[in-house]
This record gives sequence, structure tokens and C-alpha cells, in this order.
Amino acid sequence: MPKQKKIISQQAASEVLHDSDFTNYDSKRKNRSRYMLLGSERRRKRVLIHGAIFVITVDDKEKLQLWPNHSVYIVNGKIKEVFPADKGRIPVSDIDLIYDASKRGGIIISPGFINAHSHPPMYLLRSSMMLDKGNIVDQIAKMARLEGKMTNEDFFLGALGDLTEEQKNGITTTLSHYGVFEPVEEAAKACQQNVINAISAVSNSHPENTPALVEKILRRKNSYFTKPAIAIHYLHKASPTQLEKIKQLVKKHHALFTMHAAESEEWVQENVKKFGERTVETLEKLGLASSHVLLSHCVHLSGREIDLIKKYKIGVVHLPTSNKLHRSGEFDFVEFVKRGAADQVCLGTDSVISKNSLDLLSEALQTRITHLHKHRVLYEDLFRMVTSQAARILRLGKVGKILPGYQADISFWKLKDRGFLPYNEKEPLSLVGNMITHGGRNIRDLMIKGEFVISNRVHNLIDESALLIKLQEAHMALRKRIGK
Ligand SMILES: [Zn+2]
Repeated sequence: MPKQKKIISQQAASEVLHDSDFTNYDSKRKNRSRYMLLGSERRRKRVLIHGAIFVITVDDKEKLQLWPNHSVYIVNGKIKEVFPADKGRIPVSDIDLIYDASKRGGIIISPGFINAHSHPPMYLLRSSMMLDKGNIVDQIAKMARLEGKMTNEDFFLGALGDLTEEQKNGITTTLSHYGVFEPVEEAAKACQQNVINAISAVSNSHPENTPALVEKILRRKNSYFTKPAIAIHYLHKASPTQLEKIKQLVKKHHALFTMHAAESEEWVQENVKKFGERTVETLEKLGLASSHVLLSHCVHLSGREIDLIKKYKIGVVHLPTSNKLHRSGEFDFVEFVKRGAADQVCLGTDSVISKNSLDLLSEALQTRITHLHKHRVLYEDLFRMVTSQAARILRLGKVGKILPGYQADISFWKLKDRGFLPYNEKEPLSLVGNMITHGGRNIRDLMIKGEFVISNRVHNLIDESALLIKLQEAHMALRKRIGK
């Protein structure tokens, strides 16, 4: 019998294979921390992220950059300096905490992502959409029955489950579109997520919601942790009088106004029946069209409506996974590009009823795949859509970039990860392609407003294990209440 040829050298094998010793499993994980506290436990206001292997960010000319071996200095929640690590110039006496992003293969940092459309309390309903059985109309009716029995504690737990899952996927800002305000406010505060808290001003499921109630909240906007905003489910669900009141609120409080729009042609026709024209045309007629408006889905728009979106700088949230799962139709990306409105599009997760995982990298990939047969949405553009472009559309100010003066919302990703490696070192941009195509995985650490919310993959504010048990109990208790 011929001798079998050895295909890998002994040395190559020994470098990648463990010795067959299982006993030191635990010791291999020790001393993996990247944190060095210089000041006291309570003073961590001046943070140096030392030597990130890459800083991925959009620069002030809106161009995507990958800066190798850079450090970031943060003071009081704001980025103060971004500089090459070998030109270190921050005196140790000016640092409370050092995060070493250089060792063990290195850490990539990116701005925290921005989710422009979600319904966080619905997290509690995760198992309610069994699309294998029945049709979507029955399923939604069943889900609404469950939702109708949710308590404030349920809304809070659901929102906390949703927001912390988003955080694990590198999202630091979320727009919540829902019928309750306080439970979302409490959940955001508990996990320190930046939340635009858009509460319905008109709602079937929450009949107590009125423009007057929203006004009360907007008047007290400075006393909340979240940023209040106005929502309605659909334009045709509101009366002209209610919409007139909302218009005044937007103007007076500079508030963001968001709604679902043109998700199905059927709903567009409801709008035509009520107002005489299509959705965006109605917004123009009522004097509501402006850059304070954010429309989700926008699957069934006419060319004229896209022109109006461009003209009035209306924001659009594209939700390709939700549109596929609910068979809503296909967003016309090509028309947005042709009519010059593509830079008004950002992305969202929608709820767990409409998406597999609450992250934006997989939504970026879904965007790319959905439109590839007609148009290639570049990785660079996708990255902008979940960072700087979303920040502009949501009127967030200095958020969504790693540049001096910006809020320190930062995601930390291990380079030595299957979501990144192997990449072409001569073309670091390939890392962004890898991140979107192979990513959608958990971050290592997460910083919001200069504070580490997640460290060494563990949430610093929430006991994740206890939260999951609570969610499960609350879910079954809810089913019991409706007898299902
Ligand atoms: Zn939605």
C-alpha cells in the first residue's frame, strides 16, 4: 500500500491545533481584559482607547475611512481627539481609564449603529408569529390579542429585551415607534440606550393616546432620558383635525414625526379613499411634508411621491427583511437613486415579528441582496446608512462618526473574528465588505456617551440571564391571560 502523503506540515498543524489537554480550558481565558483603571472606580470620565487596529468611520466629507493603528481620547462622553497611536500625546495624569485595543490581534472600532425603526415592547411576542400556519392576517389578529393584554411591566421587559439585544449587535441609538412612552423611557434608562421615543398620537390599541397627551410629554421633554417624538400608525388612521394638531406640535417643539407609509398598496388605497390622493401627496397637501418627517417601509410609492420626498427632505426607513417576511413588495431603490433621494434612506430592524435578529449588519446585507438584480448598493453606502446618514435623517446632531466633537457612541469588534478574517490587508476596505456580508455578530465591548455599557461581552447594567428568565415568565403569563 502506498504511503499516504502528508498534506500539512507538523509545524503548521501544531500552531492551530490544541494539544489534547482539556484540563486547562479555564486558564486559557484568564487575563483577557483590555481595561486598565488609572483613576478611582467612580471617575472614568477621561478614557483613552489605545491603538485600535482600525477605526472605521465616515469623515467630515462623508467619505468612508479606515484609519490603521489609531487612538481615541474621550472626555465627559465626547470624542476629543482621534490620532495615530504611535504619536501618543495624552499625559497619563489626564486619563482615568485605558482600553487597550492593540493587543491579541487588535480591536476594530466603529460608530455605534443607528436603528431608525423598531417597536421594542413587542419583543415579548417573539413566538407569536408562527408563519408556518395560517395566513398573516390571522397571525396579526392573534398577536394583537396578546398585545392588548400586555401590562406596563410587560412593555418594559419587552423593551429591555429588545434594546439590549440591539446593543449586543453594536446598535447605540434606537427609534422606538410605539403606543406607550414611560415603559420605553424606563427600559432605555436601565440599559442607557439612546432612544428617540416616538409615541402614538392616535392609536386603536391605546385609545387614551391623543395629540394632547403627546403635547404634555413634549412640553416636559427636558426631564426625560429619552427624546420624545410623535408617531401615528398610518396617515389614514388619523383625522384632518388630529393631523393639524400634530403639524403644530412638530413646528412648536421641533419634534420628529414618524409613521408607517405605503407598506402595502391596499393601505395606499385606504389613504386615497380618505384623502383623495397617495400618502406623500397628502403630507404635502396638509403642510406636513418636511425634514422632520420619517416614513417607514415606503414600498408602494409613485415617482411623484419620491420627488416630493426629495423636495421636502423627508426621511425614509428601508426595512427589506420585514418587507420580505410579510410579502409587502419591493422597495424601489433604483427610483430613489434616479431621483436623487437615495441619501435620505436609512435602515431599521422593525420588531422581532418582522426580523430574525435585531441587528443592522444583516439588514444591510439584506438591502444589498434584495436590490442586487437591479442595482448594487455599495458597502460604503450601506455603512453610511446605519451611521452618519441615519444620524442626519433623525436630526441627531453630532452622533454617528468617530471624529472630535462627536458623542462617544462606539462599538468594539475583535479583528480576530470570523466576521472579519481573512481580509485583504492591501485593501482594508474589504473589512467593511466582510463586516456586512459575514458579520451580524456580537460586539466585544460597547460604549455609549463615553461609558462602557458592555465590557468583555458582558452587560454592565443588566443581568442578561435573569432578564431572559423574566421575559419567558412574562410571555407565558401573558398567554395564560388570553387562554392560549
Ligand atoms: Zn413597523
